[in-house]
Amino acid sequence: MNKPISTTVPAPVRILIVDDHPNTATTMARAMTQLGPGIEILTAESGEQALELTSDKTVDLLITDMVMPGINGLELIEKMQAHPGGRPAYTALVTAFDVPGLKESARRLKVNEVLNKPIRPERMSQIIGKAIADLGRSPAPLAVQARTQLKILVADDRSDNITLLSRYLENEGYICLTADDGEQALARARAEMPDLILLDVNMPVKDGFEALQEIRSDPAIAHIPVIILTAARLEPMDMQYALNIGADDYVTKPFDRRELLARIRTRLRVKETEDIIRLRNKELNLLPELGRELSARLDIDELTDLVLRRTVETLGALLGYFILLTPQGPSSKIYRFSTNTSPAIPSDLPPLADLLAQANETHQGILIGDAHKDSRWPVSSDDPAHAVVIIPMFGRLGLLGLLVLAHEQKGYFRLEHKLLLQAIAGQAAIAVENAQLYSGIAQEQQRMLAVLQNAADAILMFDSNGCLNLLNPAGEKLFSAGQARLGEPLGRTLGYDPFVELLEAALASGKAQTGEITWPDRRVFAAVLTPIEAGGCVAILNDVSRFKMLEQVKNEFITTATHGLKNTLTKIALMSQLVPKLGPLNEKQAEYLGNISHAAANMDKLVQNMLELARIDAGGLEFKRASVNVNQLASGIAEEFQVQAKAAELSLQFEPAEGDPEIQADQFQLQQALRNLVSNAIKFTPKKGSILLSVQACQDGVSIIVKDNGCGIPQNDLPFIFERFYRSYNDQNKDIEGDGLGLAIVKSIVEHHAGKVFVESEYGKGSCFKVILPA
Ligand code: ADP
Repeated sequence: MNKPISTTVPAPVRILIVDDHPNTATTMARAMTQLGPGIEILTAESGEQALELTSDKTVDLLITDMVMPGINGLELIEKMQAHPGGRPAYTALVTAFDVPGLKESARRLKVNEVLNKPIRPERMSQIIGKAIADLGRSPAPLAVQARTQLKILVADDRSDNITLLSRYLENEGYICLTADDGEQALARARAEMPDLILLDVNMPVKDGFEALQEIRSDPAIAHIPVIILTAARLEPMDMQYALNIGADDYVTKPFDRRELLARIRTRLRVKETEDIIRLRNKELNLLPELGRELSARLDIDELTDLVLRRTVETLGALLGYFILLTPQGPSSKIYRFSTNTSPAIPSDLPPLADLLAQANETHQGILIGDAHKDSRWPVSSDDPAHAVVIIPMFGRLGLLGLLVLAHEQKGYFRLEHKLLLQAIAGQAAIAVENAQLYSGIAQEQQRMLAVLQNAADAILMFDSNGCLNLLNPAGEKLFSAGQARLGEPLGRTLGYDPFVELLEAALASGKAQTGEITWPDRRVFAAVLTPIEAGGCVAILNDVSRFKMLEQVKNEFITTATHGLKNTLTKIALMSQLVPKLGPLNEKQAEYLGNISHAAANMDKLVQNMLELARIDAGGLEFKRASVNVNQLASGIAEEFQVQAKAAELSLQFEPAEGDPEIQADQFQLQQALRNLVSNAIKFTPKKGSILLSVQACQDGVSIIVKDNGCGIPQNDLPFIFERFYRSYNDQNKDIEGDGLGLAIVKSIVEHHAGKVFVESEYGKGSCFKVILPA
């Protein structure tokens, strides 16, 4: 135990372990710490990272996985063999697959060992231990920990015995605690945690045996070795009893000083070893225990508190910090935990920028033996912390933060602590990321809920079977009590059938459905039903009853007003025809009269269009469906406009569809729509231009296309040209008259046939209007 310790410290044996599976390299590294602290272990998760880590200094031993993304094991060995700092003296290649030609390549590169996965960490540790010995290097012996004075509790009711024993023990350098009876002995043991107890048997209040039984049944002090002090007259049976109930040894009075001290030393030595094992066990258990506890938590504050508290307590640290970087910025949230509440412990953190940069670069933890002599973790001179270990926490997207522990004792943290903390940080990072993700989702959910709760529109969600999953307060108001139950489909014959049909269509087709639905209470809703990718459908119902009513009022007004106008216009037209019959007109009179007639004709057209639209809107225009031959219908229109086209010096061609398609439609209304399109094409195409009216059978039915090479429509106007009264004003058409209702009528007629109308146009080059009608 008291071997002389060499004062010249040999350079550590540098070992690099590379495996793309993040835990494998660290597990191997942890196992290798058994080889002693005279080794320095680097771990990397890829060949590229390994090369980066060793860019300024080579390694003595290289253990690498073969199959990794990027640089593979053999390539890495080859690159390391060319390292300017010298090739590794020993290389091992670990492989899980029988890669063809691997053995041959390994031999060529003089790889010392090709190992097959899975390989136990202990076995790896043995192989590396042997390799180090073969190299003629030996890891430095375990550093002797700075010895603290050991405490021994002497419990005896005889003060002369206590005085004598105290003297022996203090002379040996032990701290001596005393107790006069069994009860007191227990109290002091619990309060001061001695390293050993010398326990007299015969004592007042509580005798030695009783006290021993209590010590062994109290987990906090059960591990303390107890040597029974016995009188020579004690029966051997009593001694057996004492050993049976947990005494570690016994000494008979009067004592032989040397024998007593030798027995104490033996017990303390055993305890020291047991303590180390207990501590290691505690440390080893920390990882799986924390893993279990972390996986059950989703609150970031709770998680960080748990990681900090458990690591600080288990590693016996003075204090710890959990520094969590905020995802979108340089600021960070700092959690702190200390076992010592003394105000002497400063709570400010030194600047972290350099450490964060180093962690980002190396991905490795940093061990600082004495922060008072190391600028990386500057502390004030009265700071009790000396040893510091700084562990980066990496998530999937980068550095999440740092875990930092500090201890009063210089050099307290060793490589194995660093590796254990790195593994813990790995788990903590996963837990923190999950928690961040969860809180993000929870926030999102809250926002969605707020939107749902406060939306004026009714929002209903249905599953793929059409059962109601969710409805917002506006949705609840749509139904009478008990009519819409969560988990059940909406009932038929309650007055919602049009809505149920739309829902069934959306679920069956997987396509969004829209429609206007009249509710049993006469309200009108514009409904949009959108299927959800994950299954089911969301329905939004917007109450448009007010607009419907306004529209009705507007239609009635327009109808009344336009009827009045129409009568007046008829009169004006009639009068303008009669005036020339009253006598000859001079030139000016004839011109003015011509203007009046023209204006009246324009006005009449406008009034007719307005009446037509009002009638369509009010549903007063009856659509008489019959079989219509589209080729015949379109060619008739082309024929009808030939004269007008010729007068405008335009060519108007017709191209029929193959197979004479027929559709169910109102022939008169369709003709009206086509007339509007063709007359527009004639109006907006300058002389010498050409117009093509064609019919084509298409997937959805029949399309009728009116294409011209006229003035075209500017891009900005395109979205609005089907709106009522919208006219595009530009240089090319500024002199062309119109009321902006023609296309609105086309759209209304086409939509009444469940069809669609589109336009493609380039300003200055021409336009193409396409009407698609279902077969
Ligand atoms: P109007 O033709 O009476 O102005 P429309 O509703 O028929 O009203 O058309 C709206 C606008 O769309 C027109 O003012 C015109 O600017 C544009 N437009 C329609 N058809 C064409 C076309 N074939 N070529 C160029 N512009 C057109």
